[in-house]
Amino acid sequence: MQTQLFIDGNFVPSLSGETLATLNPHDNTVIADIAMANHADIDRAVTAAKAAYPAWKNMAAADRGRLLLKLADAIEANADRLAQLESIDTGHPIRDTRFLDVPRTAATFRYFGGMADKFEGSVIPVDAGFLNYLTREPVGIVGQVVPWNFPLMFTSWKMAPALAAGNCVVMKPAELTPLSSLAIAELMAEVGFPKGVVNILPGLGHIAGQYIAEHPEISKVAFTGSTAVGRKVVQASSGNLKKVQLELGGKGANIVFADANIAAVVQGSAFGIFHNQGQACIAASRMIVHESVADEVLEKFVALTRSIKLGNPLDPKTEMGPLTSLQHRDRVLSYVDIAREQGGDVLTGGKTPDGEGFAKGCYVEPTIVHAKPTDRVSQEEVFGPFMTVTTFRTDEEALAIANGTEYGLGAGLWTRDLQRAHQMAREIRSGMVWINCYKRVSPGSPFGGVGASGYGREMGFEVMREYTQAKSVWVNVDAKIPPYFPR
Ligand code: NAP
Ligand code: MG
Repeated sequence: MQTQLFIDGNFVPSLSGETLATLNPHDNTVIADIAMANHADIDRAVTAAKAAYPAWKNMAAADRGRLLLKLADAIEANADRLAQLESIDTGHPIRDTRFLDVPRTAATFRYFGGMADKFEGSVIPVDAGFLNYLTREPVGIVGQVVPWNFPLMFTSWKMAPALAAGNCVVMKPAELTPLSSLAIAELMAEVGFPKGVVNILPGLGHIAGQYIAEHPEISKVAFTGSTAVGRKVVQASSGNLKKVQLELGGKGANIVFADANIAAVVQGSAFGIFHNQGQACIAASRMIVHESVADEVLEKFVALTRSIKLGNPLDPKTEMGPLTSLQHRDRVLSYVDIAREQGGDVLTGGKTPDGEGFAKGCYVEPTIVHAKPTDRVSQEEVFGPFMTVTTFRTDEEALAIANGTEYGLGAGLWTRDLQRAHQMAREIRSGMVWINCYKRVSPGSPFGGVGASGYGREMGFEVMREYTQAKSVWVNVDAKIPPYFPR
């Protein structure tokens, strides 16, 4: 299979003819050769988006919404195919892609389809005799750089609000996992999105991604990925001072108090860290557990971890698949050595699983490491099935450990004490807090972080603000207002 770029409503070859293979991380066989966009292709996409923009922006919001609703239906009608594609390209188990990623993708397009004609401006109380109203205009042409960890879902998170608000999109999926975004492009053409409104161009980050961030005619760039590349995007955006939205790394604190429901902690935390092989910015990567319950929690958590079924993502019984690439697998495994060098104790996992079925793939055993809060493994984003655990005595100590990294994206709290839960939720430095649960997301609930986790919010009404600019319009409604220079 050889894919093409989606520009101006058509699938076209890249101008350079360059391709890159996308692999199935289960066995590293080639799935398809992907046409790679370079600068000239991005320029073509921007030209198409600019041509489409006036009509798209001025279309009745309800009609824009209806197209997003149709797309949601088309995604559901193609659920099995999309789930399979996502599983072979990324390594996510099919039970997740089929029953989480695909439904959530459809739900996101549906939510923002409904939002399109409900996102209102306002009238501001100002001096008597004047009417001041505020409208929200689209930003224009927006560039979107999607990472490889949830490519299908993140395509919807980025694209749906941008389109609902009346923007046109130039999107670059990650080079490792472009297939599901291209499948969405096919469905968009099928349900009748006007040409040029959305353009999807796989390409290399440092070439196509960088150029999108620099492009003088792109008015906003939304980026999800590492903090290091987020900084580059900010620098590249400065030429035309484009709006920037950054969803970067995390180092999720997961605090277990002595009064927690331990069975719920074990299940919720295992989902928090091992779902999608830990390749999530909101992964529950640091368990901070009260010393009085640490032994019991760890005994049960390690037992559950050892029982997790690794295997081919297409097997419906598989609970954890491979990481997305061999390079990433090796990066994750390197943190096992880093942990040991600093005195960390590997409680379980820490290597590639034994067995024929895993030999060619990007597998890593689910891993738990006892480490100090200042160790590198407790500070740096590993982005794999790798959880550190540390103990605490007082609430203040737990809070200091939780807030003791440069990140601030998601955090979990497990306690039956209502006041403590809300007090901690207030004090934790992060964009999202989960109490007696972990990693809940919904199209209506704002998603994003503080500090090195980036800025701006996805989802909900918040993201509609991110994809619009406020315009304040003043009207003199009183002919009797005295002049400033009376004559
Ligand atoms: P990355 O380099 O930040 O890649 C994320 C996306 O940015 C990809 O689409 C990438 O394209 C693109 N990109 C790379 N360089 C760019 C540039 N100069 N300008 C614009 N876009 C650029 O992340 P990675 O190397 O794949 O993964 C490394 C670490 O990043 C992970 O271990 C994890 O810690 C973090 N990460 C976080 C998230 C998240 O959800 N917050 C997602 C992914 C990675 P290409 O893939 O084509 O290079
Ligand atoms: Mg792949």
